[in-house]
Amino acid sequence: MIITRQKPFESILKELEGSSRVFLVGCGECATLCETGGTEQVKEMADALTKNGKEVTGSIVLEVGCHELDAKKDFRAHKKEIESADALLIMSCGAGCQAARDATEKPVFPANDTLFLGNVMRYGQFEEKCRLCGECVLDLTGGICPVTRCHKGILNGPCGGTNNGKCEVDPENDCAWTLIYQQLEREGKLEKMKEYRPPKNWNAVVKPGKHVIERKKGGDSDA
Ligand code: SF4
Ligand code: SF4
Repeated sequence: MIITRQKPFESILKELEGSSRVFLVGCGECATLCETGGTEQVKEMADALTKNGKEVTGSIVLEVGCHELDAKKDFRAHKKEIESADALLIMSCGAGCQAARDATEKPVFPANDTLFLGNVMRYGQFEEKCRLCGECVLDLTGGICPVTRCHKGILNGPCGGTNNGKCEVDPENDCAWTLIYQQLEREGKLEKMKEYRPPKNWNAVVKPGKHVIERKKGGDSDA
């Protein structure tokens, strides 16, 4: 899921300078789990903005904030409240904010900072384990990503700084290459540690990323 953190309220007020009437947009997926754009946070934001002299013309928590077709449809259902607003405050990730951008001509402002693609470790605790590099090497590394979880992102590790299984850059973190070694040892594939991995092709995903699922005749996907 996409991990977001709410901007300081003062920054949000600064974004909204000159916009006295505001429509709020939350997201029922990632931003709800991150507690940055669920029903509760949208209501809290409405209260806080009202206390600070804004008029909240309405609000919606989209089922999925980055679903552009749904956003357009749901915005149409709230046309009056959106039309009467000077701006929309988007309480989802940057992708959701841009879905809103294309669903209205009104100014849109982000309430959140978007941090990373995160695994949910437990409720309210997230960790990055994949950096979306477009050319996955997990088959070579025991299912543990050195691109993301090694602080130096090295493909031929470990570096000389690993210390008792911890990383020299951040001793709070396990050394990714120690984890990889241990996993390959469990699998009886330690010879993979000796294989040279060539420099990574950072062009595997050209930004901005685009992907269309190829469909076979009859509607089944190739994937
Ligand atoms: S190598 Fe790492 S960053 Fe790249 S796709 Fe695989 S898990 Fe993600
Ligand atoms: S100690 Fe391990 S995780 Fe840290 S930079 Fe070196 S190889 Fe990467």
